Amino acid sequence: MKYGKATQIGTKKPTRTRINVKANKELDKLWKKKGINYCEICGGRFRLTNMHRHKRIWFYDKPNHYLWDYKYCIRACLKCHMKLEHDKKETEKMFKKLRRLV
Ligand SMILES: [Zn+2]
Repeated sequence: MKYGKATQIGTKKPTRTRINVKANKELDKLWKKKGINYCEICGGRFRLTNMHRHKRIWFYDKPNHYLWDYKYCIRACLKCHMKLEHDKKETEKMFKKLRRLV
């Protein structure tokens, strides 16, 4: 008897959490270094978050430092983050615009 995919997803290992904490720390350093203390989308300064280009799962088999790589992350306020969170196309567009990626 086979179980659905759902049984394999959603099991968070503690190491992931540690990596996320590290990623947030590294990104804080990066923003400071670059002088980015505002939302890169709307320019606001309220509740800034790190918005990643890809879903977490994409990073799982990549080197850890991709999580705090300038190419893969932008600083966005919570409002902008929420707006783009589930819109892959708009997220891509924003990254291309802000990071000049092709
Ligand atoms: Zn914003």
